[in-house]
Amino acid sequence: MQITTTLSANPTDDARLAEILANPGFGTHFSDHMLTIEWTPEKGWYDARITPYGPITLDPAAAVLHYAQETFEGMKAYRHDDESLWLFRPEANAERMIRSSHRLALPVLERDDFIQAVEALVEVDARWVPGNPDGGEKSLYLRPFMFASEKFLGVRPAQHVTFMVIASPAGAYFKGGVKPVTLWLTEEYTRAGRGGMGAAKTGGNYASSLVAQQEAYAQGCDQVVFLDAQEGTYVEELGGMNMYFVFDDGSIVTPETGTILEGITRSSIIELAGKMGHHVTERKIGIDEWREGVASGKITEIFACGTAAVVTPVGALKWDGGETAAPASQDLTMRIRQALVDVQLGRAEDTFGWMHRV
Ligand code: PMP
Repeated sequence: MQITTTLSANPTDDARLAEILANPGFGTHFSDHMLTIEWTPEKGWYDARITPYGPITLDPAAAVLHYAQETFEGMKAYRHDDESLWLFRPEANAERMIRSSHRLALPVLERDDFIQAVEALVEVDARWVPGNPDGGEKSLYLRPFMFASEKFLGVRPAQHVTFMVIASPAGAYFKGGVKPVTLWLTEEYTRAGRGGMGAAKTGGNYASSLVAQQEAYAQGCDQVVFLDAQEGTYVEELGGMNMYFVFDDGSIVTPETGTILEGITRSSIIELAGKMGHHVTERKIGIDEWREGVASGKITEIFACGTAAVVTPVGALKWDGGETAAPASQDLTMRIRQALVDVQLGRAEDTFGWMHRV
């Protein structure tokens, strides 16, 4: 794929960039460039270009604004201590976007084109990838996304689609260190039903989670837990992270896929924990098993995982009329977290072949 590049005439100056990278936060600062590719059924993907970052023009009738036909991805680029730049399992993001695109009736951007596009933006905005000489965990968060840009008010797959990649430097997700998150169990709202879009990374899933997340905040909780839509008894995932349960015999359980997002962190932990000698099972786990397991001590740790925060210990669970205590330990959680971060930041050998050099 041919990508043309028009460099910004006014890139962020070194002093300002240093200031941003010293304290990037999450999702608020964006790099100097963006990547765009267009698609029509006649031409396929065409006009791949990197241009200065800035607002885009969309027709008010662009289908995405009305029918939410869109998919997105979230991944990170890391700067290792020798200054080399790396992506974590980009082919997994490319493949997930293909699966999401199928579900949203969007065109497929082939895996190699997806990776080439992401790499090209990272190369052009290489100076936006923060380093971690202080032992931190900064990275450049990458957001590939695809949307129905056709001007047409009718419900059918769009005949003009736009793919873009933007980049945003990211600091440690939790200021002041990793602390257990308190979860709110929503019994009113569900995220995805059978045959729905739960496994796709598409904006609608996040739009539908917001009211439940609002409820969580109002209850003094950090994140919301969704149960399955059919029975209302099985744990699915958080608004933006997958879940793991550690049992007192060292075995680990994560909810099976189907209606949840197939997290890349989740699948990496299945491999990693297996290598650490733990028996990992993907199965249904009931909310009562959670409550009783923590109460009896059979469940010793619970954690959540995703690209943004990597791995986060889970503390107390609250619901309308009750609360269960935090699990007793965070020991394995923190060891898994460290092992993963060490591979991503080049501090441990990548025995899995997960890292992709830019
Ligand atoms: N579930 C949801 C709903 C998410 O938004 C995310 C973040 N992409 C995850 C799980 C974790 O996925 P990943 O490990 O690929 O970031």
